[in-house]
Amino acid sequence: KYHYKNIRELIYRSLPEAYITILEQVGTIANELGCRVFAAGGIVRDLLLGVESLDLDLVVEGDGVEMARALGRRYDARVRVHPKFRTATVLFPDGRQVDVATARVEFYQHPAAMPQIETSSLHQDLYRRDFTINAMAVSLNQNDFGDIIDYFGGREDLERGLVRVLHNLSFVEDPTRLLRGVRFEKRYAMNLEPQTFALAKEAVRSKMLERVAMERVWEELKHILSEPRPGLALYRLQEIGLWDYLFPGVDYKQVRQVLDELPRSLRVIHTWDLAEQLEPWLAYLLALLSRSDADTAGAICRRYHLGQRWTDRVHAGLSGWQDVADSLQRAQQIQMSDLARRLMPLPEEVCPLILTRLTGNAARAQLRQVLSAINYDQPSITGKDLSGMGFTPGPAFKLALDAVWQARLDGLVRTRQEELSYAREYLAAYEGVINSV
Ligand code: ATP
Repeated sequence: KYHYKNIRELIYRSLPEAYITILEQVGTIANELGCRVFAAGGIVRDLLLGVESLDLDLVVEGDGVEMARALGRRYDARVRVHPKFRTATVLFPDGRQVDVATARVEFYQHPAAMPQIETSSLHQDLYRRDFTINAMAVSLNQNDFGDIIDYFGGREDLERGLVRVLHNLSFVEDPTRLLRGVRFEKRYAMNLEPQTFALAKEAVRSKMLERVAMERVWEELKHILSEPRPGLALYRLQEIGLWDYLFPGVDYKQVRQVLDELPRSLRVIHTWDLAEQLEPWLAYLLALLSRSDADTAGAICRRYHLGQRWTDRVHAGLSGWQDVADSLQRAQQIQMSDLARRLMPLPEEVCPLILTRLTGNAARAQLRQVLSAINYDQPSITGKDLSGMGFTPGPAFKLALDAVWQARLDGLVRTRQEELSYAREYLAAYEGVINSV
């Protein structure tokens, strides 16, 4: 199946209809504009592997921006143009996006006074890519729709499960490819091809990654932490000698197990439907730092320029997760409201980490219950009800509603009536105290 010359059938069988329509439209536009157009990179790889892929990257031999504008007009989609690189992004109303690049025809002066040679601009575009499996394209023009262009043996490498660079200087040219190579290797259960592996080791030995801006390293790391099983790639990074550079001061051996356990915890939490905003990469980062002190964690956040908001969440998570895990473990002796108060200031991304520490169904059920309480279990009464009872609005209202919330969690009040009388008693007592001062 990896030796298809044309994947028209495969496209029609594998992709959603809306997606296919876009590909066909692109082909029609290309014929109108008189240019050649290809879908390149991840989409071709994933079609051949039979896995879902949502990115669409187009390469136009001609004017990519013109293609993007025409496509945008047909779909009433926004088009963002980057004039400097002659690239554009088409943003569809349903959130889908298509990147369009211009493959320039460049002329090379042959040294021995030969005439100028025009190499295929698609070839040049693909040659700049990272691995053979990512350097294939498929034609979208109407007359040869589905034809595979595979200059570097990508199909063969897919079949053999090999992640292979296109040339010996690849990691020198862009050392972030070390991280990308490991990510693809583990995602598709493939292997770095032996020569590529040797080149990777060499690039690590000569500290190539240190030349790269930390933002770019983080971008690739974050991709790794967003994979279904980042533990595998992190193990590999440790194996090729990059761990200490990526996470200085963090002891890999101490966190290996929790990293391996986290996917399962994440799946469980996912089934609860209680942490919808959860960012998996942060859950993994917290697990990765779970045995480190605040200074080490802070240094990592600074290293990757995470910014105040994420850094605060990292610190909050790390300082509080153990306490919540311990409290849940001795569940009988702690009230729900107490648990909720401890868990609430923490980012929800600590939940998978906490879950890895819980033994027994009771503790796990309680974590689910407390999460659900934080998300949904709000009192039915509001400040309006309190002023309706004759109390004067003020800071005490928030305290009273909070007290009602806690009482609900602990099962002290259940009905709306009970909430009202609980609040009344609370506010009366509060006023009594204020008046007596
Ligand atoms: P994913 O499924 O993770 O999105 P992808 O292959 O689409 O995988 P992207 O990071 O979106 O990955 O990159 C799109 C394409 O651009 C890749 O397939 C690859 O051909 C090329 N590419 C991306 N980054 C690099 C790089 N650092 N060096 C060379 N080529 C790259």
